[in-house]
Order: sequence, then C-alpha cells, then structure tokens
Amino acid sequence: QKKEWALLKNEATISSDGVHVELAANIGSPQDIEGVLSNGGEGVGLYRTEFLYMERNQLPTEDEQYEAYKKVLENMEGKPVVVRTLDIGGDKHLPYLSLPSEMNPFLGFRAIRLCLEETDIFRTQLRALLRASSHGNLKIMFPMIATLDEFRSAKSILLGEKQALVESGHNVADNIEIGIMVEIPSTAVLADQFAKEVDFFSIGTNDLIQYTMAADRMNERVSYLYQPYNPAILRLVKMVIDAAHKEGKWAGMCGEMAGDEIAIPILLGLGLDEFSMSASSILKARSQIKHLDQKEMKQLAEEALKMQTADEVMELVKKTTSL
Ligand code: PEP
Ligand code: MG
Repeated sequence: QKKEWALLKNEATISSDGVHVELAANIGSPQDIEGVLSNGGEGVGLYRTEFLYMERNQLPTEDEQYEAYKKVLENMEGKPVVVRTLDIGGDKHLPYLSLPSEMNPFLGFRAIRLCLEETDIFRTQLRALLRASSHGNLKIMFPMIATLDEFRSAKSILLGEKQALVESGHNVADNIEIGIMVEIPSTAVLADQFAKEVDFFSIGTNDLIQYTMAADRMNERVSYLYQPYNPAILRLVKMVIDAAHKEGKWAGMCGEMAGDEIAIPILLGLGLDEFSMSASSILKARSQIKHLDQKEMKQLAEEALKMQTADEVMELVKKTTSL
C-alpha cells in the first residue's frame, strides 16, 4: 500500500471519472515545507503563522516575518501558499501580550478580533506578507471572520498597506487572492453574501464543528458531540461550497475533516476544490480519491445530507465506498 502511495507523489489528484481536486498541506513553520514536497503536496492550504509569535519574549519583527514567509513561498516554487494571519487567543496565548483573562476564551478576544484592534501587530504582519508576495504564489486568509464588516475592515487595512508599500517602491504581487476561513456558523450561513467579496473560502472545521455543536473541542466530556459527519455540519459545508461556486470562487477545507477517510468521499461529492491536511495524510488521500467516482459521491453526499445522525452517515459512507 505504501508503495502504491509513493508512486502517486508526483501525480495530480484525480477521481476515477476525471475530476481534479487539489491536495494541500497545513504547516506551522518554514521547516515543514520539506515534508510537504516529499509527500506530494500541491500547495500549502494553511500556514498557521501564530507559531512565529509563540515561544519567544517579544513580537517578531517585520523583517523576521518577511524572511519566514519568503522562505515558504520560495521553497514551494510557485505552488499556492495560503497564509493565515495571526490567530492568537482561544487556547493560544502570547506571554508578552498581556490580555485580560476571559470567561470563555474561545468565544472571546481572538484572531481577527484582536488584529482589528491591535492594528500595529496586524499591519506589521501584512507588510511582511506583501513584501514576500513577489517570491511566490501567495494567498492571504483571515481567521475567525464572523461578519462582513470584519472582512471589509481587514481587507481595507491590507489594501492600505499594499498601496503604501507600492508607493514607497516595493515590489508587491498584484494577483494576491484574499480569502477567509469559514469557522463560525454565521459566516457559513451568510456564505452567499461573503462569496461576492472574497476570493476564496477555506472551511475550518475544527472550530466550525465546535461552534455549531456548542461543544468545546478540547473538552473530553463533550467530545461525543464533536461530530464531523453530523448532517448539520455537512449542510453548512455544502452551503459554503455552493455559494463559492455560484460566484466563480473556490472553496477549500483546512480542518482535520479534510483528511478524514470517511469525510473525503462526501467532500468530493459536495464539490470541494481543495483539501488541506497534515502532509503525512496526502498520499493516502490521493490514493483514496483516485478510486472514487465523483458522480457517485455526489449521490452519496445528497443521501448523507438527508440523514438524521452522524452514525447513519458514517455507515452509509462505509457501505458505499467499502471502507
Ligand atoms: C480550524 O479551525 O479548522 C482550523 C484549521 O484552525 P485551527 O485548528 O488552527 O483553529
Ligand atoms: Mg480555527
């Protein structure tokens, strides 16, 4: 089996009936690129930049960030790289940023909420990204977007920094796609409106499931509610993909669900364009997709959407795809 996977390393990801999807990797640092390429990753679907900020005593400078982003873009040799802007707060905090403790950190002051208020931190990161953009195929993604206003504010800060850099003579790519993570139910529900303004969606199921089921993703006692195959989750995922396609945009997924062998047949059937997962899952997923017929999976997904429970969905997928 491992041997068959290895042969797929330099192949595109194509279903048995010829539908192409992109298999990308989630990374946390420039050192991870080696593993992405050796596992046949077609891009980086999620670069979690918060690790640049953690395990140190002060904010990373613009130049430090620039070097990291440039390295990732260069080493990916023109393949797409989706960089997520700082997603701090929740379970991740910075020792040098003293923020008041909160009753519900996962519902609190985190990610884009923090960046839109601490704009110096945000602008520094955006400048570093924009300066690095000429070294590869950069896409910028904002985390934890709950409203269109947040997206518009973040985008306008980004465009402001871009203009300032261009005016001061910097080389900035002019085709940088700007997208959002869909990890809050309000954004999934309103995806048709967001799709008119964003260049792409990446569905963050780790958080989307937690917020939809109101079940803390870190809490063992409620882990029975953490149900990726719950038809409620599948319907939200479908809404996001359909909304993107209606506006000619692409939809990816960068939560754990994207690399899950039960979820993959459904996601293929729903028309997901990009699956971003840990690098070590890519070849297995490519092999699985190669043996799936997208038209059949479309029917499977339609059936799954009408089911009542996550268990029923799991049984259906197992039965249909002989897992
Ligand atoms: C997610 O929420 O699905 C996601 C990919 O982001 P993180 O796991 O970093 O919160
Ligand atoms: Mg998240």
